[in-house]
Amino acid sequence: LAILTDPAECPGSVNAYWKSQLGEKWTDTTFIPYDDGDIPDNECGSAEGATAEDFDQNAFYCPADGTIAYSRQLLDTLYTMGGPYPPVVVLEHEVGHRANDLAGTVGVISRSEENQADCDAGVTSAFARTAGRLPLSDVIAAAKQLYEFGDTRNFGDEIADSPDAHGSPLQRAAAFGRGYLQKISACKTLGESQDGSVSGFGF
Ligand SMILES: [Zn+2]
Repeated sequence: LAILTDPAECPGSVNAYWKSQLGEKWTDTTFIPYDDGDIPDNECGSAEGATAEDFDQNAFYCPADGTIAYSRQLLDTLYTMGGPYPPVVVLEHEVGHRANDLAGTVGVISRSEENQADCDAGVTSAFARTAGRLPLSDVIAAAKQLYEFGDTRNFGDEIADSPDAHGSPLQRAAAFGRGYLQKISACKTLGESQDGSVSGFGF
């Protein structure tokens, strides 16, 4: 998790990347780990009506206080499925949500916002790799993992602005790949998509 938690002074760190993009708007992210069955200790956890089940196997950005909370068991699951990097990518995705919130570039509908965050995770992965902190095999494992986590529920019929809409398997891998290979402006373009498509890849 070092590339996530290292301060902005550290080359290749996620904080260094967002600091370079957002300047003074960016502050190092606060992470709140919790165990399944517990309620995370942040504003979202203390929201009225929140139950422990809401947070099982979850990771999320909490706009109310700017923290990112994650279930330790979710990270264990991801580690078991795909090795050391997929858990980091899931958190890079959440950090992407935070960066877009701070920058005022949140996606126009849910799926666009999610594609944008997958793309942001790709950009920060490329940044870490350029700094020599990430083997290519880890990046490939992460893209595969996102593919496996893509939406397969009635895709096509599913409404792209339903609150929990993520991209399809191909969209998620493509959004991550686009961020990895291109620049942050490409992620912003994904966030502006009215229909949540990842255009230019044919799906
Ligand atoms: Zn998300």
